[in-house]
Parts: sequence; C-alpha cells; structure tokens
Amino acid sequence: MRILVVDGAPRRDWLAEHLGALGNVITAATVHAARRLVAGQPWDYVLIGDVREAEQFGRELREAPEPSAAGVPRPVCIGIDSRPVLDENLGLEHYSTEEKRAVVAAFVRRRSRVSSVAEEAGDLQQQLVEMRRRDEEVCRANRRLSTLLEETRRMLSPDDEEAALAELLRTASQLGGGVPAALIVARKEGLVVRQVHGIPGERIGSDPLGERPRRRIAPFERLLEPPELDDALCRLFDTDRYYVIPLRHEARAQALIALGGDPAEADRGGLQLLAPLAAMNLRLRRRMRQLRTQADQDGLTRLKNHAAVKRQLRLEVKRHQRLGRPLSVILFDLDHFKRVNDTHGHLAGDKVLCTVAEMLRRSSRETDTIGRYGGEEFVMLLPDTGRAGAEQKVLTLLASLREVQLSGTGPLTFSAGIAEFPRDGQTPTELFASADAALYAAKRAGRDQVVTYTEWLEEEFRRGDSLFPADRFAGSESTGDHP
Ligand code: GH3
Ligand code: MG
Ligand code: MG
Repeated sequence: MRILVVDGAPRRDWLAEHLGALGNVITAATVHAARRLVAGQPWDYVLIGDVREAEQFGRELREAPEPSAAGVPRPVCIGIDSRPVLDENLGLEHYSTEEKRAVVAAFVRRRSRVSSVAEEAGDLQQQLVEMRRRDEEVCRANRRLSTLLEETRRMLSPDDEEAALAELLRTASQLGGGVPAALIVARKEGLVVRQVHGIPGERIGSDPLGERPRRRIAPFERLLEPPELDDALCRLFDTDRYYVIPLRHEARAQALIALGGDPAEADRGGLQLLAPLAAMNLRLRRRMRQLRTQADQDGLTRLKNHAAVKRQLRLEVKRHQRLGRPLSVILFDLDHFKRVNDTHGHLAGDKVLCTVAEMLRRSSRETDTIGRYGGEEFVMLLPDTGRAGAEQKVLTLLASLREVQLSGTGPLTFSAGIAEFPRDGQTPTELFASADAALYAAKRAGRDQVVTYTEWLEEEFRRGDSLFPADRFAGSESTGDHP
C-alpha cells in the first residue's frame, strides 16, 4: 500500500512513523507538493492534515481525467483533523497518543477494506452482466431446442403433406429470425419451388429455377453454379441476400431450404440442426405417399382397390350432397370370364384383366374414379354425371372392348349396371346395391349390355336374387380384393 501524508512537520512525521506498518509512506509539506507527487504515480491513500484542503484535493482527484497509465488507481483522499467533519475524516481530538496510533491505523485499514469491497462489488456487477448474457444465450438455445422438438413431433404426426411442409418452413423462418423461406426440390424438369412462407404468390413462378440439373442435385455445391438459380432466388426473395440450407440424404442434397436474408451466426446453429430433420421429414412424406398409393392400389391392374373405391364414394356422396349435383356409379362384370381362364389359363386371364383396366383408365376423365371391385368386376364413379351420361359412357366402352385386341383369347363383352345419386340411393351402400341390381338385370337379359336402375328392380333385389352377396355392400372397411 502507498500512502502520501500531507501535513505540518510534527504530525506528518508522527503519522509517517505509525502508518509505516501499513506500507510505503511518503510525506509532503503542502498540497501543492502533493499534487506533483500524485501526478502519474500510483497512490492508495492521501492523508491531508486539513479537512477543507482534503475535501478540495479529493474533488480534484475525482474530477481529474483518467490517469493515462492503465491500472494506475486514483488514490482515496482522507482529511485528518482534531474532530471529524465528514464521514471520511478522522478526528483525533479525544484520543491519547497511544490510542491515536491505533485509531489512525484502524481508520486506514477500514477505508482500505471499503475500497476493496467497492472493487469486489464492481467485479460482481461485471460477473452479473456476464451471467445475464449467458442466461439469455441459454434461453435462446432452449427456445431453439423446443422449436426443433416441436418440429420433430409434427414430423411424426400424420398431418397432410402440404400442412407439414408449411409448418417446416414456418419453423425455418422462425429459427432464421422471421425471414421469408422457400422449400426447393429437385424434380425431373429441374428445381422447383415446392412450398413458401412469407413470400407473395405473384413472385412464385411455376417454371423451374435455374438450369435443368443433369442429375439429381449432387453434389449440392454445384447447385448455385448456374447464375440463373442465384438470380431466381434473388427474385423470389426480392433481395440480394439469401441463405441456403441443403437437405441431404447420404451426403447428397435432395432439396434445399432457402431463406431471404442473412441469419445471425447464433441462428445458423439452429438452422443447421433443422436440416437433417427437414431432410428426414421429406423422405418420410415421400415414403408415406408411396405406401398410401400402394395400399390403395390393386396389385394386378394398378387401379384403385375395393377399399379405396368405397372411401372415394363416401367422399363423393358427401360432396354431391352439398352441391346438389348428380353422381353416377357403374358396376361392370366381364361376361363368361371363367371360360377365358378355363380355355387359355389364368395368366392369359390376368392379361385380359390388365388390358380391360387400361381401356377403362384411358377412357376416363381425371375426376372419374376407376377401381377393380372384385375378380373380374370393375367400378366407375362419375362425378357430376347423370344416368344418361353414364349410359353413353358404357355404350362407348362396350364398343371399345369389342375392338380391343385380346391376344388370342377371343372377343370379350361385359355387362354393366348404373345407379345415380341421389335418385337410386342416398348412401354409398344403397348406391352400390342399386348398381348391382341393375348389373344383375343386364346379366339376366343376356349380357353384353347396360341396364340403368329402376324401381321394379328393387323387388328382384329384395328377394336376394342378386348377382353378388348382399353383405358386400354393408360398408365393411377391411374388404380387400375379391378372392
Ligand atoms: P358371368 O358372365 O356370369 O359373370 O360369368 P363369369 O364366368 O364371368 O363369372 P363367374 O363369377 O362364374 O367367374 C368369375 C371368374 O373370374 C372366376 C375366376 O376364375 C375369374 N377371376 C377372378 N379373379 C381373377 C383374377 O385375378 N385373375 C384371373 N385370371 N381370373 C380371375
Ligand atoms: Mg363375370
Ligand atoms: Mg363376377
């Protein structure tokens, strides 16, 4: 500790002697001399024998510009007088010589402790600021983590694909600090915008972005090579700054998330964590789509199977109920198909079934549903089509079937029954039953023809004289293909 004592001769020497134990004590006769000694030198305390002068000098020290030498502390100024004037002063009036010695030392020690406590408090304040900063960082990391967990949960839920991708982009945008986001995927025709968040519709074109990639996007870095893609992203975000996160599977990028803007370094960490999740999400959705298609397909003809047709009919009935529009159901059954198998074998029979399926597929509209309802039975749902339209359709199909080359199995015909919603049935079950009754009438009338349901068929149907067992319309969901 360095102490500067400024006082008249007797007390100055006395103080110097008794404070010597505390550290290095230098004395000065006047404040003027003390000023010179203080300048540029490190002092812990200046003891001045006049309270007013001490006060004045203390103010000077406090107001002086920071000492140039780093780490040189400002000294604490203590006034010494016969009686205490201010809290900081030391009054010695009532003490004996012995006591004065102890009192002066104790006072300086106390002041020394006060200033070290103040220093510690300063340190603590700094530590507090640092802790708050870290706390904020931890909170941000937690928020990122819960956003990612939320995304994982959503990814595993069977929401529809569009909703899931919209949520994925919302998460990416949130992690990137609220910037607009786009999901870009590789298709045969090139890179296309699959889904966006926060981008106005008029900026999203249907043309592929950039050049048509020769292969899939691999390696990803080559993606940004064609300047057109760079231009396309700038146009999409209406900015020249964008950030791209490749979504890789086995080191190859299958798609990318592009963000309009430049996310902060801290946010990039979260986005990099999102990338594998997003890539897995896309793969999962693709797989789910494939599985759903497979589950709805008839293995032989690739038409919709029994369960999928019934599901579709339920949807169509609901929709047509709402819109008050007609809907026709046609059931087809190939005539004497058993003979084809018996004469030419089952393989040839299978080929015929595929050819017929293809013919039905080619002759239908995009909004029509065609399914294989059973062994050699097919079904068609014609939305917004009444019985007259359906009859016309079947007649055309009958003519087409006569012209189809059936590779050696000879000419083939079918019988068909038509029922129209809501006239011939209010529910899917009733509609199928009516179409079935009409089909049975066509068989009985000699085959190779179409019959539209009328009420007199009802009686026949009620007698249980149906072509098919009645319970197959009873709405069982699990019914698979005809055995
Ligand atoms: P009808 O004119 O009365 O309908 O006579 P049909 O011979 O077509 O009808 P039936 O119900 O007696 O026979 C249906 C035949 O369809 C029996 C079965 O061998 C054949 N079949 C059903 N599913 C398949 C299939 O997946 N492949 C083949 N090759 N034949 C099938
Ligand atoms: Mg048949
Ligand atoms: Mg049959």
